[in-house]
Amino acid sequence: MRMTRQRKLILDELCKAKSHPTADEVYKLVRPRMPRISLGTVYRNLDQLSASGQIVKLTMGGGPMRFDSTFPQHHHIRCSKCGKVDDIISGPNIKIGQEMVNESGYELVGYKIEFHGLCPRCRKRNGNKEGKPQSSARN
Ligand SMILES: [Zn+2]
Ligand SMILES: [Zn+2]
Repeated sequence: MRMTRQRKLILDELCKAKSHPTADEVYKLVRPRMPRISLGTVYRNLDQLSASGQIVKLTMGGGPMRFDSTFPQHHHIRCSKCGKVDDIISGPNIKIGQEMVNESGYELVGYKIEFHGLCPRCRKRNGNKEGKPQSSARN
């Protein structure tokens, strides 16, 4: 694959961003450095980068498609309340995965684990509400 300047810039920004941006957000990230780039170009480059394995598309919990660099290899956890996606660097590795599928006779080449929970911010918000009795909402 030919690495155009646009594609390199998109890859650069994705590697820097820890936020797992959507295509729209990637567009906003690259625009300051390449004001004439179009959203369509961003979409096309994201597609090509993911087809060549340099980035991954994340479709988690039915939310909007997000993009991420593949290095270092990591898992993801998604907040089931606000949709924020964070990295989990340490997690099950391919060896453990192979042990789990051994009985099926498959050779494991990859797997996808999706964690979900409450992010620290949502946990705090939840904590604030806990003081109130549940039955306070009367109709
Ligand atoms: Zn959250
Ligand atoms: Zn990630």
